[in-house]
Amino acid sequence: MNNTLIAVVFFLFFVACEQTSSNKTYPLHLSDAIMGTRYTIKVTSIPSAINKAELSTQIRNLLSKIDKKMSTYRQDSELSQFNKSQSIAWQSISPSLFVVLSEAKKIHQLTQGAFDITVGGLVNLWGFGSDPMTQIAVEDSEIDVALNSVGSNFLQLDKNNQKIKKDIPDLYLDLSAIAKGYAVDLVGELLEAHEIVDYMVEIGGELRLRGGNANNQSWRIAIEKPTAEARMIQKVLPLSNISLATSGDYRNYFEVDGVRFSHSIDPRTGKPITHKLASVTILSDTTIVADALATALMVLGSDEGYKLAERENIAALFIIKVTEGFVEKATPAFEKKLKRDNAMNKIRHGY
Ligand code: FAD
Repeated sequence: MNNTLIAVVFFLFFVACEQTSSNKTYPLHLSDAIMGTRYTIKVTSIPSAINKAELSTQIRNLLSKIDKKMSTYRQDSELSQFNKSQSIAWQSISPSLFVVLSEAKKIHQLTQGAFDITVGGLVNLWGFGSDPMTQIAVEDSEIDVALNSVGSNFLQLDKNNQKIKKDIPDLYLDLSAIAKGYAVDLVGELLEAHEIVDYMVEIGGELRLRGGNANNQSWRIAIEKPTAEARMIQKVLPLSNISLATSGDYRNYFEVDGVRFSHSIDPRTGKPITHKLASVTILSDTTIVADALATALMVLGSDEGYKLAERENIAALFIIKVTEGFVEKATPAFEKKLKRDNAMNKIRHGY
């Protein structure tokens, strides 16, 4: 077989980012590398009693703490310790890891299994995980073996004792589609604890927004056109008090003989998705939910994903590849949330 293999992995690009047209500055503006991508935090106004250097340190420490707990890219993380352990006994875990695993189980149920953090073994098999390896189309027999260790039902949570257990020794958890969203929420809560009401927190395209930007307007969030060739804007959304996450097939994929294998894995088949859905953007009250739902609907595709989003009242915008470019399809909940966010912001701030 003549394999033409193109690997495309652009971790430093965003799928959604803020557009500020003026050169007004922010009293607190942080940007740095984390979790294999970048974060950006903008605070529009800051109470005078706050020590900015101290707050910046608190934010960095918080992000680094989450990375040390939830990364599959660090052998020493709490998650990696659990993944490496072959024990099927109950194990105590940190409260924050417990929160993320609980949310992941809920979204697994809501999406009828499309979102499944136990796909970790398959993510590695297909070359999208922490093990550096050549990305090639994988044999069906290898997929079958890996599928034996997939299923959120193999993960048990004991809320009262904050313990977890795996039913099978090889269960391997991957929080790449949910932990960034969780981290964004925690940073937002930290800012709010300091009575900061106008801010944007973003990690790798997952965003939490409050109030307005330096132009005294709603935040202008650009959704990227889902194409790997050039960075272009598909549309700009004015947003104020909401979270947004986008999942796409156009930044982290490889191609073999013209077939695109994306990093979103369908837990039913054990294979990367290959359908025509290019990206999904979710609006939600929390970033953890937006992050996970974006991956889930990406896995389900434009038809099944849209039906589920409509039925479950999920605010989702699908961007679908067609012969001549892209078409957009938003759920009624998406249009409603957008309108409500804009209306509420006009009432609150007159933006
Ligand atoms: P999303 O759509 O949000 O997530 C896709 C990812 O989710 C896939 O890559 C896969 O890992 C997983 N996934 C695939 N299918 C499913 C499914 N059906 N259900 C659930 N999950 C699925 N990358 C590095 O290169 N170096 C690092 O050091 C590094 N550290 C990280 C630390 C943490 C704590 C986290 C959360 C991620 C880290 N990453 C790292 C991963 C990197 O940021 C990922 O590319 C990213 O998390 C994937 O996010 P996304 O927004 O591109 O795609």
